[in-house]
Amino acid sequence: MNKRIAVLPGDGIGPEVVGEALALLDVVAELYGHTFHYDYGKIGGHAIDEEGTALPAETVELCGKSDAVLLGAVGGPKWDRGPTHLRPETGLLGLRKALSLYANLRPVKIFPALRDASTLKPEVLEGVDLLIVRELTGGLYFGTPRERRTGPTGLEVVDTLFYTEAEIERILRLGFELARTRRGHLTSVDKANVLESSRVWRETAERLAPEYPDVELTHLLVDNAAMQLVRNPRQFDVLVTENLFGDILSDEAAMISGSIGLLPSGSLGAEGTLGLYEPVHGSAPDIAGQNKANPLATYLSVAMMLRTSLGLPEEADAVERAVACVLEKGVRTGDLAQPGERVWGTREIGAEVRDQL
Ligand code: ATP
Ligand code: MG
Repeated sequence: MNKRIAVLPGDGIGPEVVGEALALLDVVAELYGHTFHYDYGKIGGHAIDEEGTALPAETVELCGKSDAVLLGAVGGPKWDRGPTHLRPETGLLGLRKALSLYANLRPVKIFPALRDASTLKPEVLEGVDLLIVRELTGGLYFGTPRERRTGPTGLEVVDTLFYTEAEIERILRLGFELARTRRGHLTSVDKANVLESSRVWRETAERLAPEYPDVELTHLLVDNAAMQLVRNPRQFDVLVTENLFGDILSDEAAMISGSIGLLPSGSLGAEGTLGLYEPVHGSAPDIAGQNKANPLATYLSVAMMLRTSLGLPEEADAVERAVACVLEKGVRTGDLAQPGERVWGTREIGAEVRDQL
């Protein structure tokens, strides 16, 4: 298969982990007979330095022409004091908007070899493998009016939770589709006992369910979902939820797995095909350029990209298995190693994963 991938290495450790990820993709291409074309774009701090903007127009253009986008990380202390429009993060927000990314996917998986890295008990973690699907375009984040005003008793403040039925249906459909490719269980998270938007959310899920007879749909109130995530995370397969609930639950779920150096994410575009994949971690300026960064989160993001945007599930499984095997062998970067254990560098763990693949 012939695929175009827009590669945005970004700042800090971004270029290091993305460099390793491309080396891994080259092995995937060779093993499975694919051709991946990489188109490099600038974004974030170095784009500000070189182009005077965190998101050059060429970057948006090349992402639009590609099958998927792979991003490292943006930002660093060098740019923290600049005016808002010259902040690296505005580049990423701008790109999300330009590509109409409407869904953020965050899988949480426990590698048996790393059970001890989590704050939860090993017996609670055994077999956890869940995916949170968060709506990104609507809800309290963007609704209007949003204002402070003076009312009869003084200050009043308004935020608006706004959704169109089409937005709700789009994200729920994605939840069903993803559940179908996994263990066939979809948990729709809402607050239907209080919110009108949640009642429409629930009705829409019920209306769609007959179209997905192979998926078992469960509704859960968000407060209960927050509790169940740490009480018994193994019960979940795919969780789908609105913007703010998803923001909170995905950070909560991230803590289940242990190191930030392990967590992948993907955001999907309106066509359901173009997606942007990136590790959850930031640019980690404290370890940049020192061959210390853990590239596994980026590898797992590549696996998501292969599975979700490039339609290559077998290749995705192979990448995930290679990562699991290398961890099983005791190979650890600094963020995962216990005191006294050998510490592998970015390039060294990269070579181990390629060999394993
Ligand atoms: P951002 O605002 O971009 O999210 P941040 O400052 O909140 O960035 P990170 O850049 O993710 O956070 O760094 C937080 C800590 O985690 C740092 O000490 C960093 O060294 C460490 N860290 C982040 N990513 C990795 C990684 N891939 N491997 C090892 N350590 C990492
Ligand atoms: Mg951060």
